[in-house]
Parts: sequence; C-alpha cells; structure tokens
Amino acid sequence: MKSFNPPVRTLMGPGPSDVHPRILSAMARPTIGHLDPAFVGMMDETKEGLQAIFKTENELTMPVSAPGSAGMETCFANLVEPNDKVIVCINGVFGMRMKENITRLGGEAIVVEDDWGNAVSVDKVEQALKDNPEAKILAFVHAETSTGAQSDAKTLCKLAHQYDCITIVDAVTSLGGTELRVDEWEIDAIYSGTQKCLSAMPGISPISFSERALTKVKNRQSPVTSWFLDLNLVMGYWGKGAKRTYHHTAPVNTLYGLHESLVMMLEEGVENSWARHQSNHELLRDGLEAMGINFLVNEKDRLPQLNSVFIPEGVDDAQVRATLLNDYNLEIGAGLGAYAGKVWRIGLMGYTSRKENIALCLSALKDALGK
Ligand SMILES: *Cc1c(COP(=O)(O)O)cnc(C)c1O
Repeated sequence: MKSFNPPVRTLMGPGPSDVHPRILSAMARPTIGHLDPAFVGMMDETKEGLQAIFKTENELTMPVSAPGSAGMETCFANLVEPNDKVIVCINGVFGMRMKENITRLGGEAIVVEDDWGNAVSVDKVEQALKDNPEAKILAFVHAETSTGAQSDAKTLCKLAHQYDCITIVDAVTSLGGTELRVDEWEIDAIYSGTQKCLSAMPGISPISFSERALTKVKNRQSPVTSWFLDLNLVMGYWGKGAKRTYHHTAPVNTLYGLHESLVMMLEEGVENSWARHQSNHELLRDGLEAMGINFLVNEKDRLPQLNSVFIPEGVDDAQVRATLLNDYNLEIGAGLGAYAGKVWRIGLMGYTSRKENIALCLSALKDALGK
C-alpha cells in the first residue's frame, strides 16, 4: 500500500460539499482523550454553538457521532414506539427513509405523498391529521436534497401541535443554508449533518430535542431498541453539568472540525450565511437560465443550496459529468429515482457557495455541452 492522496475537487453535488481549510487544519490538531477536561470544555462550547445555529434553547442539543442517517435514526428510535401512528410526508428519497425507520420500529406509517420536486402539501397534512386523531408524530423533510424542494416547516409544525402531534424534522441540508428556527417554529426533534451547509467533513449529525419530545422519550413503555442511539445513555456522556461517563469514544478530531465550523458560522452570522446561499443561488440561476437550462422546482419552493435543473434535450448525462470531473475537477450530482438521467443536482452548500465556483461551473458546463 501507499499513502492515499485524493485529487483536489470542487464539490458541487448534493454533499459532501467543500470543507473549509480552517476546518481541515483543525482536524489535524493533536488527539486528546474524550474525557480530558479540555475536551469536555470544547464539547460544552460545541453544544452552545449548535443551539445558536439551530436557534434553540433546547438543553438536549448535541452532535451524534455518526452521519445524518444516524441522526435520523436517533430521532425515530427514541420517539417511535411499537404501534405508534406516525404521519410521514414523502416527496423524495429522504421521506421514504423516514417511513422505513417507522415501520422497522413497529410503528404505523401514515403516508402523505407529494410529487417529487414539490413541497409537502400543508392541506394534505392537515387532512391526514384530521383523519388520524390518534397519530402522535408528524415527520417530514425540510430540505429534500433528492429534488431541491423546500417545505414550510414553520406552518407544518404549528399545525401538528394543533392536533397534539410532535414533529420530527430532517434539516440535514437546510441547517446553515436556509432559514431555520427551531424554537420559534416549535420543532420538537430535528437532525442535521455536518457535510452540507456547515462547510465541515461528513460523519457527524447535530440533533436537538424539545421538552415536548423529551417527555415522550421519558414516558416510553419499552426501552429504546438501539443501545448506541438511546439518548438516556448518550446523555450520560454529552449531558451538560452531569459528571461525564464513558458511553462511546467520541470521534475527537472530527469534533474539532465541527467546533471550528461553528466558530466560522457564528463569525459570519447565521442569517448572513442564509443570505449568502440565496444570493449565490440567484447568480447560478441567472447563468443557467441564460444557457437555456430550466429548474425542476418552482421558484417559491426552491432550495438555494441544491439546484435541480433539467438536462437539455439530447445531452448525454454521464458524459457531461465525466467531462466536468476529468477536465475541471468539478463534481455535480446526478438525478435520483424518476429523475435519474433527467436532472442534474448542483449544490451550493457551505464553503462551496462562492462566486468563483459559480463561474467555474457555468464555464465548465458551457464547454461540456459544446462537446
Ligand atoms: C444527506 C442527507 C441525509 C443523510 O445524511 P448522511 O450524512 O449521508 O447519512 C439525510 N437527509 C437529507 C435531506 C440529506 O440531504
């Protein structure tokens, strides 16, 4: 074997996005013990930083030591009990995964379906809440990375509470990239990821649970079936103030990376980060539309950080993406499901969301399409 030296790419797909050099160098700092007082101090700061960017005062706000999918499982495994009715909205890949979590936990999934590329329909959700008064949870994806559609989390969460449901929200792609206010919008359980709009490496999933959600966890009839994701146990290590006890060995250096990304996000200002993602989206949109390339999602529901655009008629999808990668070191995402071969997904997330990348992407695409 030899050392692995990856090529230097520009990552404009659905994630991971480019990792900021400050974060890469933070991760190269010396490893210390996961119970070292210096490390514990950094853990507390990390929790405070996450509260600030989630815009929440939830005590249980912490990073799960695993990727976004594990954050998803943490929410469902702790909150869904056998026979619980859960209303789950499916308008893309990640809603389907939510449903899979529910049924594997013995819950009953009541599916509200919308076409891929559309936002979750508030009217359909209200009808499902009316039709299923025993439902306990509403689950939906805020930013559907498989299509680039954004749903109205604020309205959906308030609606759920009118019908005595708590909410589970997937914010893997939205956190840091688009408006998100956990407390004000009354989100009960939320999970995200580090590799999308936080400019950090893959592998960590920030989560936050409201008091309402914690009450449901505490009143469970049966123990959480996953040992690793059981928050009662995890909080023995991550809980603030409590004497920390070993639960698992935290990914120490990866958490340095998350900490640095939070420092950077707070230096920029969360609102400024949302605004940067929006203005860069508009720049890319103008350039693509000038080339005759159209968007999948209508303007109102479009995510600024994930641009799904139709591949022009007669163009070879794989060949264009190969040209971008081989000639420009530029990665863009392919379409999924019914949109495989029909759309490209161009990410402008985190550190990737910069003007120079938009210029590179537009000129590289022009060249590739010319061929
Ligand atoms: C990327 C993503 C996930 C999964 O995150 P991983 O870190 O890949 O496990 C979940 N939900 C959404 C909306 C995503 O974009």
